[in-house]
Amino acid sequence: MSDLQYWQSQAEAILIPNRIIINAQSRHALSGKTYDCISPIDGKILAAIPDCDEQDVNQAVANSRVVFDEGSWAMLAPAKRKKCLLHFAECVSAHAEELALLETLDMGKPISDALAVDVSASVRCIRWHAEAIDKVYGEVAPTANDELGMVTREPLGVIAAIVPWNFPLLMACWKIAPALATGNCVVLKPSEKSPLTALRLGQIALEAGLPAGVLNVITGYGKTAGEPLAQHPDVDGLVFTGSTAVGKHLLSVGALSNMKRTYVECGGKSPNIIFPDAPNLDKAAKAAASAIFFNQGEVCTAASRLLVHNSIKDSFMASVAEAARAMEPGNPLDPATQMGALVDESQMQRVLNYIDVGKQEGAALLHGGAQSLVDTGGFYVQPTIFDAGTNKLTIAQEEIFGPVLTCIGFDTEEEALAIANDTQYGLAAAVWTSNLARAHRVAKGLKAGSVWVNYYDGGDMTAPFGGFKQSGNGRDKSLHALEKYTEVKATWINLAD
Ligand code: NAD
Repeated sequence: MSDLQYWQSQAEAILIPNRIIINAQSRHALSGKTYDCISPIDGKILAAIPDCDEQDVNQAVANSRVVFDEGSWAMLAPAKRKKCLLHFAECVSAHAEELALLETLDMGKPISDALAVDVSASVRCIRWHAEAIDKVYGEVAPTANDELGMVTREPLGVIAAIVPWNFPLLMACWKIAPALATGNCVVLKPSEKSPLTALRLGQIALEAGLPAGVLNVITGYGKTAGEPLAQHPDVDGLVFTGSTAVGKHLLSVGALSNMKRTYVECGGKSPNIIFPDAPNLDKAAKAAASAIFFNQGEVCTAASRLLVHNSIKDSFMASVAEAARAMEPGNPLDPATQMGALVDESQMQRVLNYIDVGKQEGAALLHGGAQSLVDTGGFYVQPTIFDAGTNKLTIAQEEIFGPVLTCIGFDTEEEALAIANDTQYGLAAAVWTSNLARAHRVAKGLKAGSVWVNYYDGGDMTAPFGGFKQSGNGRDKSLHALEKYTEVKATWINLAD
């Protein structure tokens, strides 16, 4: 049996989770309504998913409130929460193939990436926060001798986590791992486009022994399930990853409802800057291609703007196009596939529309530009490369969230920096050069939450991740993530008689 046949047979046999989880009960939406979950691999229906609304949200939040307030999780010794979460991580790891397959069927990413990136990083994330939580200390303030000032962190309470479809399991874990480690209870709402791994994660949490109600999972659309969750007066913290438009809306909802602590991780239009003295231009070209085409370009940090020094632009772009040719879309269930399907038909149409706009506005199409694998019934687009000439075109300014690379030439370091920062976003950026002083100057000048020198998308759980400008606020990953899920308390004790 070939590797592809193996995954196809697994796909035929897999049980698709289709029940929400509230207070350890698996059930339908109270209304009984469902919507079809469609696989982008072939356009076929995978399952009927509960279409939750305000009633389900109210139940989930009420249950999380009771569980949080009674303290069985929140007041548990950190070492015990750690033990429980470490076991949870092991259970997730034990279901790696199942979770990877659900992710691939649900949102179309290559199975090899789902296994090596999504599931592995999710396990590492849960493990890292579990390990961290009994090593975080409070502070004692430098007070006068007749008083004692203690600074401690307490869990917020009930957290609503609303996440997107591009890394459904991983984005859920970036939220729930630090939230649970710090003693909160979580209501998780995955994207309507990719609910399967969140539903399975909720079941695995129960199998791993997390108490009932500590992690509730509901499904449904943004307007009907996400909005009442964000509005809910008994939710203490709202953490979101998704588009800038919805992120902005949720900041106002959080403020106007009950001033719940609201953190949003949003979009990007990240620049990747290539100077002629890059240590290895061949390597830089291959990296530039995978930095945009990995995960079909559906990555918040996708290097969607490639800024290349005019002296090397033609030859460099020829190498990028060659690398793109090796990444043509294939069957996501084939482990050799590097680029899979876009998440759904509307996302494919959105990407194809941007390609049309690029052509209409005068950008030169260097590679790709069309739908692919049409006979499959799935939603595939070729890796596409434009030379825009200017950063002013729509395809240089708006987040496409698909496999479309926009190249812009530059002549000087100042010009490169000005183009790089000419965006509403500030999530990530990279610079390639052998000149140490230039590397530092440019890295410092880039207005972005993550900057890479001579590679793209490096990093692990040890450093914070998040955006400047309209890419969001707050940070995921590292100990900085814990700040979002805790309140700081100052307790003063009078030591005088
Ligand atoms: P989206 O904003 O459309 O949806 C994200 C989530 O919000 C979904 O669960 C959706 O159901 C929910 N939602 C939508 N409207 C809502 C409302 N009115 N109230 C409450 N919830 C609502 O985003 P998407 O299309 O799922 O994801 C793609 C976006 O996510 C891109 O912009 C990408 O850059 C961004 N993203 C950012 C990061 C990061 O860490 N900065 C990571 C991954 C993705």
